[in-house]
Amino acid sequence: MDRNRVDAKNHYHLRTLETLPLEQLEALQFERTKRTLLRAYHGSGFYRDLFDAAKVRPEDFKRLDDIERFPFTDKQALIKDQQDNPPFGRRLCVPLRRVRRVNLTSGTSGMGQEVHCHEDGSIRAANASTASHFAAAGLKKGDLSAVLYPLGTMTGGMLSYEGLRTFGATPLPLAVFNATQKIDMMNRFGVHHVLTTPAYLTRLTSLCMERGKEPRELFPRLKGVTLSTEPFSVAWAVRMEEIWGTVVHDIYGSTQLNLNYAVTCKYGAAPDGQRGYYHLADHFAMVEVIDHETHRPVRFGEWGEPVVTTFSREAMPLIRFRTNDRVRLLPPDLCDCGRVSRAMWEAGTISRYDDMIKIKATNVWPQTVDEVIFSFEDVDEYSGRVYIADDAKEVAEVLVEFKRGGPGADTRVGLLERIGEKIKDKTQVSMRVREVAHGTLPRFEYKARRWTDERIKGLERVTYMEKRPG
Ligand SMILES: [Zn+2]
Repeated sequence: MDRNRVDAKNHYHLRTLETLPLEQLEALQFERTKRTLLRAYHGSGFYRDLFDAAKVRPEDFKRLDDIERFPFTDKQALIKDQQDNPPFGRRLCVPLRRVRRVNLTSGTSGMGQEVHCHEDGSIRAANASTASHFAAAGLKKGDLSAVLYPLGTMTGGMLSYEGLRTFGATPLPLAVFNATQKIDMMNRFGVHHVLTTPAYLTRLTSLCMERGKEPRELFPRLKGVTLSTEPFSVAWAVRMEEIWGTVVHDIYGSTQLNLNYAVTCKYGAAPDGQRGYYHLADHFAMVEVIDHETHRPVRFGEWGEPVVTTFSREAMPLIRFRTNDRVRLLPPDLCDCGRVSRAMWEAGTISRYDDMIKIKATNVWPQTVDEVIFSFEDVDEYSGRVYIADDAKEVAEVLVEFKRGGPGADTRVGLLERIGEKIKDKTQVSMRVREVAHGTLPRFEYKARRWTDERIKGLERVTYMEKRPG
């Protein structure tokens, strides 16, 4: 988006917190981190054991940097805690009567689903962090926003829905409809805003074009499209802004944070054809960005892993949680919109250090698919890829090789079907399963790399779509 074309005025949801001078922000982060450490240590057996084993106590936190003295937590530790003490683990710091929401991370097996409990305060912070993005993007009270994420046990859809309501806009939860019906509903109600993934935006674009209509004609009232979950190229974002006639935004949150911690402001994800910035909600969480290997804080301009300590989660605090996400840290003073944080991140480029792939906004662990496919003893090898098909659908495809001299042709068709059903059952994602001839797929000597993600390239396909005559 051309910077000169956006509203000159800046809008905030929590003006005082979002524009707090740096010194005051750091003082607030110190106070809130200290309170979180005390609450976790005295309120939960999980953290007490963890801190005791690391020979560190909340009293050792005397300045912000001291956070580095405290032990990390990660997905495996949370899962083990839940398994040993079902269903919530020993992390729960409040009586159950104060819990108002339970969220699960996606995926039903493989790495396991984490359970996260929230009390009223945690929910309020989550909604406010999301509302801050809608204010920054220039939405107005009463605006209609199409929420295309499913509303389930994950936080994505729920935070979008409740964040819009907290801001004062009206969410239209359209996930239950098919793509064509979604377009019809968005057009019928004249939506001002859309929340979706890059791959799905491409799909909607393609369907609109097939009808001979550009999205900018179908949705003339749009003030923004907010993406999340997958990276994209600047060229694609700029093209989408032309086709949709609005600003493309991006937000970063997670079920663990229970916040939309990093959000773009009025300039969006690609101002003036360059990478834009995420502004960070440092008033709701202390997020360090560390080198994935050395665990030292990275410098501005470098890539690192966000490590999360949330202030807002009283029921189930999260301390120094390793996200395994990969972000690029930028200096705090690049934008003129008045928001203050200790750093910014580069928009539209967040990826993963581990193998997890987000497919159709769902976390999929290749290990889960491995387990399913190799539970069929006739299978010799497989490979998977995620791509954007010619009809702009996001597709996860699995190519299967049967063992030499394996089952007959008739049996194989049935096997492929059953593999597909079992994958859907375990990952919640539908995948296309096809057979390839024996010896076609690569074999792995060390770590298997069976999955490829071709979506960023695939997003560019929309460049070649043209209006159909008539
Ligand atoms: Zn800004």
